Amino acid sequence: MNNYIVILAAGESKRFHKKIAKEFYIYKNKEIIDHSIEKSLNSKLFKKIIVVSNNPSRLEKKNYPKLVKIIKGGKERSDSSLNALKYIKKFKPNNVLIHDAARPNFSINLLKKLISKLKKNIAVVPYVFPVDSIKYKSQNQLFNLKRDKILLTQTPQAFKFKDLYALSLKENKVTTDESTLFIENDYKVFFIKGENKNNKITYFDDVKSYKTTYGIGFDIHRLIKNKKLYLGGINIPFHSGLKGHSDGDVILHAIIDAILGAIQKKDIGTYFPSNKNQYKNIRSPNMLRPIVHNLYKNNFLINNLDMNLICENPKVSKYRNKIINSVSSLINLDKKKINLKGKTVEKLGLIGKEKAIACEVIISISKYD
Ligand code: ZN
Repeated sequence: MNNYIVILAAGESKRFHKKIAKEFYIYKNKEIIDHSIEKSLNSKLFKKIIVVSNNPSRLEKKNYPKLVKIIKGGKERSDSSLNALKYIKKFKPNNVLIHDAARPNFSINLLKKLISKLKKNIAVVPYVFPVDSIKYKSQNQLFNLKRDKILLTQTPQAFKFKDLYALSLKENKVTTDESTLFIENDYKVFFIKGENKNNKITYFDDVKSYKTTYGIGFDIHRLIKNKKLYLGGINIPFHSGLKGHSDGDVILHAIIDAILGAIQKKDIGTYFPSNKNQYKNIRSPNMLRPIVHNLYKNNFLINNLDMNLICENPKVSKYRNKIINSVSSLINLDKKKINLKGKTVEKLGLIGKEKAIACEVIISISKYD
């Protein structure tokens, strides 16, 4: 094993953000640069990991293991790369991988593949095919390019040190990656299939993540004779129905409160006060629909919903699928993301004596922009 990896993180990242240095932005719970450093360490493939940064002092404070060496970057990417190659020359490396810290999503397996293919090649480069349709503009003419003839090259890229070093010294010019040097000098580059997930973080939009919140809802209504029982928006044959200003549907009321809780919008009574005649005998689906409509209109999405229906009777198992189907269509959520549990109370209290039904709901909601 005589492998070295150079992680380049000295770019200005102007396209990313005016004020935030991309490599230090927190992405998937750690700074972008640390994904590459930690994977390189965990792979146990490298004698040294050279990190090229414009802010070495900040990285030195992190106390990485000794084999991580931080060096200062140059003006252009190619200068930074050459700085690192000059630094490792004294160790007489066989293989060197060059990687952009802006690609934190590569796999350790990819590192292994690159190194193994270096046994018979001097340059090994991962590529993916484009997903967009590509036009090539030349003067005033446009040409359609065939997607399967276009290779988008990624990093890490792997090289025999001596070839890369010689080419980098000779070609003192700005390039966007090392394989460009090999191709321009008619050296053979061996391409391997890259990883689609290993995209380069370029714009701030690339790292925007969903914000997820949770809401809890609870409701209980008395059971009274001569009223229809509604649960989850459907009529269920039963000796009594739920008393209330509305149809008393405890499931839908608890769902409304859970949604409002997750988006910090108070409670059901704020929107449907029980002292207002306009809501007298309202069917609960008509209360839930505008709340859900407003949710989707504001770029929220529901991740999942879990419910406990607390009653002696009716038996939940008998109506579970019907209730879930109804809730699924009311809140526009796949029924696989909805769960309903039945819970009795050992005949205790009002619920145990079939004088009331209660429901509790928990919901997870994400906001995307
Ligand atoms: Zn209620």
